Amino acid sequence: LMRSRDRRPALQVASIQQCGLDAAEEAAPACPLHGPMLALVLRDGAGRFTRRHCCSFTRRPGACSAKSGAASALSAPNCCRLDEALATPRRLRAYCLNCGRLALGSSELAACATHQLLPRLPKRRLLAPTVFLPPLTTRQSSQYFFSPPSLAYLLRLVRRLRCRQLVCVGCPRLHEAARYAIGGRRCRSLLLDADLRLAEFFPDCLAFNMFNAAFLRPGGRDRFVSWLAAKRGSDSVCLIVADPPFGGLLTPLMDCLQHLADLAAAAGHCEVFTAVAAPYYLGKRWLRPRLSLHDCQLSYANHAKLRSASVSAVRLFSNVPESRLPPPPGTSWCSVCARHSAHWNPHCAACGTCATLHPPARLHCQRCNRCVKAKYIDSHDCRSGLSAKN
Ligand SMILES: [Zn+2]
Ligand SMILES: [Zn+2]
Ligand SMILES: [Zn+2]
Ligand SMILES: [Zn+2]
Ligand SMILES: [Zn+2]
Repeated sequence: LMRSRDRRPALQVASIQQCGLDAAEEAAPACPLHGPMLALVLRDGAGRFTRRHCCSFTRRPGACSAKSGAASALSAPNCCRLDEALATPRRLRAYCLNCGRLALGSSELAACATHQLLPRLPKRRLLAPTVFLPPLTTRQSSQYFFSPPSLAYLLRLVRRLRCRQLVCVGCPRLHEAARYAIGGRRCRSLLLDADLRLAEFFPDCLAFNMFNAAFLRPGGRDRFVSWLAAKRGSDSVCLIVADPPFGGLLTPLMDCLQHLADLAAAAGHCEVFTAVAAPYYLGKRWLRPRLSLHDCQLSYANHAKLRSASVSAVRLFSNVPESRLPPPPGTSWCSVCARHSAHWNPHCAACGTCATLHPPARLHCQRCNRCVKAKYIDSHDCRSGLSAKN
C-alpha cells in the first residue's frame, strides 16, 4: 500500500482565493512526481493575500520529496502485463503487496518470497483489479469506487449517447466495467489515473494527474492523442467522465477537462461531452456555468456514508442536455423545467422551478414567496425575505 509518509500539512481549501497553472509553462516550478505546480493566491485570517506554489496533487507547498511514499510508485511497472499474466499458470501468478506489482513465474515469486503475496490469482481478478487491490489512502484523499447502481447508470449514459470513445479520468472501475459490459468494438475506453499500479492490468491506461493535466510518464500525451485519432466514423461521440477525489480543487480540474475536450474535438469527434461526479454544494459554485447539475445521485461501494444513493450528496454534473440523459433512478420528467427531477425535488408552481438541491423537499413560504429548507420553514426570518440560514 503506497501510503504517503509526507507530514507537511496540505493548504486549506478555504484559504484559496485563486488557483491555476502559470501561463508560461517553462516558468512554473514542477513537482518531480506530479508535474507542474499550481500557482495559488491565499488569504490568511487577517485578510492579507499571498502568492505561492503548491504541488497540484498533494496541495502541499513545495515539491514532493523523493522520500515520500509516492516515490516508490515511480518504480511501478509501466507496461501492461495482462496477456503475460493470463498465459502464466495460476499457481505461478500472484500480486505482491510490498512491491505493488504482479509476480509472474517462479523467478519473480522467488524474489518476493518474504513479501506479502496474494497468491493464485484467478482470471476474473486479473480482469477486475480494483476489486482486489487495496484502495490507495493518503492524508488528503482515499480511493473510492462507484457502486454497482451508479456504474450501471453511467454505462446506460454511454450507450444512450452512442459514445464511441470513453475517457475515464480517475474512475478505474468505470473503465473496468466499460471494457467488458459494452464490448471493445462499439465503444473503446481509456483510463487516465494517478494510481500507477493499474497500468499492469489495462492496455489502455495512462498515468495522469487530473489537477494539472500532466501525463506522468514520458510519451503519455502522444499515446493519448493517437488513441483519440484511432476513433472510427465521422459522427463519433466522445464522453469524458471524471471522479475527482473528495477535497480536490475543482477549478484546475475543470481546466484539465477542458484541455482533454479540446484534444478530443481536435481529433475530429463531432460531439464531446464532459461529466463530473461532485458534491452538489461544491459543484454549484465551482462547476457552473460550464456543467449543469442533474438530479442523479451517485454512490460509492467502499464509502460508509456514500454507499446508498438515497443519502449521497454526490451528483452527476455534465454538459449533456437533460433530454439526452437516461432517466436517473427515482426521477420523473418535469415538463416545465424540461429536466429529470428527483422525487424529493417537486416542482414549485409559485417559484416556477424545481427548487430542492438535496432531500428533504423544500417548502414554499407564502409570506416571503420563495422555497425554503423544510427545517427552516417555521424559524426563518420571514419579514426581511432573507434568511441567514438559507
Ligand atoms: Zn507532488
Ligand atoms: Zn515483492
Ligand atoms: Zn420543475
Ligand atoms: Zn417555491
Ligand atoms: Zn418566509
